Amino acid sequence: MSNPTEIFGSMVFNDEVMREKLPKEIYKALKKNIKENQPLDRNVANAVATAMKDWAVQKGATHFTHWFQPMTGITAEKHDSFISPTGDGSQIILEFSGKELIKGEPDASSFPSGGLRATFEARGYTAWDPTSYAFIKDNTLCIPTAFCSYGGEALDKKTPLLRSMEAINEQAMRVLKLFGNTDASSVYTTVGPEQEYFLVDKKYYDERKDLIYTGRTLFGAMPPKGQEMEDHYFGVIKSRVKAFMKDLNDELWKLGVLAKTEHNEVAPAQHELAPIFSTTNIATDHNQLTMEIMKKVAANHGLVCLLHEKPFDGVNGSGKHNNWSMCTDTGVNLLEPGKTPYENAQFLLFLCAVIKAVDEYQDLLRISVASAGNDHRLGANEAPPAIVSMFIGEELAAILDAIEGGSQYRNKERSRMEIGVHVLPTFRKDTTDRNRTSPFACTGNKFEFRRLGSTFSISGPNIVLNTAVAEELRQFADTLEGADDFKAALNELIKKTIREHKRIIFNGNNYSDEWVKEAESRGLLNLRSTPEALPYFTAEKNVELFTRHKVFTTTEMHSRLEILLENYSKTINIEAKTALEMIRKDITPAITAYSKSLADAIIAKKAACAAASTAVEETLLTKLSKLGEELYAAGEKLASAIEAANAVTDEQAKANTFHDSVLARMDEARAIADSAEVLIDESYWPFPTYGKLLYGV
Ligand code: ADP
Ligand code: MG
Repeated sequence: MSNPTEIFGSMVFNDEVMREKLPKEIYKALKKNIKENQPLDRNVANAVATAMKDWAVQKGATHFTHWFQPMTGITAEKHDSFISPTGDGSQIILEFSGKELIKGEPDASSFPSGGLRATFEARGYTAWDPTSYAFIKDNTLCIPTAFCSYGGEALDKKTPLLRSMEAINEQAMRVLKLFGNTDASSVYTTVGPEQEYFLVDKKYYDERKDLIYTGRTLFGAMPPKGQEMEDHYFGVIKSRVKAFMKDLNDELWKLGVLAKTEHNEVAPAQHELAPIFSTTNIATDHNQLTMEIMKKVAANHGLVCLLHEKPFDGVNGSGKHNNWSMCTDTGVNLLEPGKTPYENAQFLLFLCAVIKAVDEYQDLLRISVASAGNDHRLGANEAPPAIVSMFIGEELAAILDAIEGGSQYRNKERSRMEIGVHVLPTFRKDTTDRNRTSPFACTGNKFEFRRLGSTFSISGPNIVLNTAVAEELRQFADTLEGADDFKAALNELIKKTIREHKRIIFNGNNYSDEWVKEAESRGLLNLRSTPEALPYFTAEKNVELFTRHKVFTTTEMHSRLEILLENYSKTINIEAKTALEMIRKDITPAITAYSKSLADAIIAKKAACAAASTAVEETLLTKLSKLGEELYAAGEKLASAIEAANAVTDEQAKANTFHDSVLARMDEARAIADSAEVLIDESYWPFPTYGKLLYGV
């Protein structure tokens, strides 16, 4: 039995290890550099690199890599060994220099750049992010790095995230100063991402081209039992899955990931892992590692971990809940209602910043969770709809109402709730009855953004959240810094914000049709698909937001939009081609083979006895012939649709075509194939059924 306290962080070059392994002055200099966000001095870098290498070699590492997060959504690494020849080259020593630690130069030309590589050199740079610790994985020392082009344009998901952390830090500190806070010297955001996933048996996975090429099933009739009995959620965990979870925890703990809870999810074969929250930057790195390690550990157990948002039609898909808050370096959660009037006023102002941010940047929040995979979930009554709204609970809503109207809150002793004077009435922070249908829910002292897809890097949504809230705090600080009477200005600002942005607050059932209508009358956006949402990214107000806070340049925004559009079209293209291949090479031959066996059976029966009844065989044969013909026609239509979509040159128009025409043709073909599946002897069906995939572990 492994002892968590012993293995936790054993593969991480963390603060404790640094303090132990680095000379005192080097350790101090490094900490100072990190805190002040200054470039590292060459001597310090060399000393840190040597200590890191010695530590890593002791733990069995032979290689090092800059570990980065390009726009592919997964992490990238390029391994170099520590070896360096000495003398005549007959011997080696192990070396790792400060230069190698700080900077790498991978070829950037094979990573998505959205047109950036046309204007800049192919060379890219990776630069050490000392706010995230180095770690050892697969005998390789991994250095978390940011990745940018020769011209300094961000080519990854980490650089803009770090910039957004800086933006919110700057603006939140301005606001804290106004409230007389002198202890805090920085503010950072925190995230705890809950990760959903499916586990299927590898022997079944290997027989499904759709899972192999696209991560989701493109065909498959529902088994007799789905999730309707609701017996999987929090149910007893099967022993094979338990063994997987134990190994997964051990591996994550070694890497310093605070894996905390795990349970079965709603759908059969679906599970969830939640870590304890950390700073957004580290949470992002750790979530990427978590997904990678999940896949690796699953393979050791003869399983495959599916991280796709919708691996199975007809059962719940997988998402990721992004629990987000703001915290000072003195450990104060800024979204936690306080005990004194002053703390309360401060809490209300931060709350207002989040409300205003979610309302004004609904489009960006929507885009931050847009992908071909997630389109199958959002609005499909298993995940929040495409409409962005916020849940703050009845009691907090009543308090905001009272503030806005200057009226009486139910609490008897007070005639009026006055900000900065009264302690907030205590309201329940109970999380049991909170609204599970809300896309963005206040859960006591944090917000839970529930719409992320399970494969997502959490970086995108947090870049939007951090930057949008930073912008609102900037506006608040501008107003309040210039006020003669701080308290009066604060009261007015909070009232005004509630009045102007309360339309984004919705405490009802987000899955209902009434909400869609209601949201429309409130003027809220309802961007149903990725191609519909993406054009909003470069709207003027959004360019203004990101450039003002130096999170993205205009060029970077256009490049990102192009990558997102391309990615969408490429994904559907691969899916459609896979579906077509399965129709032509697997499903149609299966229908033909089974039809032949039926025909043979009819002939044999008649030969044995002319009066024998062959009604069942004949009915089946007729049905299958018809379905076979329909499927053939649907396949041909799909093939033309794919061809037509690929001929479109404008990226937006292309994505629209893939959505409107190719996806629709795939759905039509699928419906026919699924009807054939239920009529055919299982031994003739060319790949494992949903029943085996969902219940086969
Ligand atoms: P529940 O399980 O009821 O959703 P938890 O309190 O267990 O609520 O938290 C769920 C996730 O939210 C966990 O990953 C947890 O670490 C994270 N979390 C808790 N507090 C914060 C916070 N202040 N900032 C960010 N994430 C948080
Ligand atoms: Mg949750």
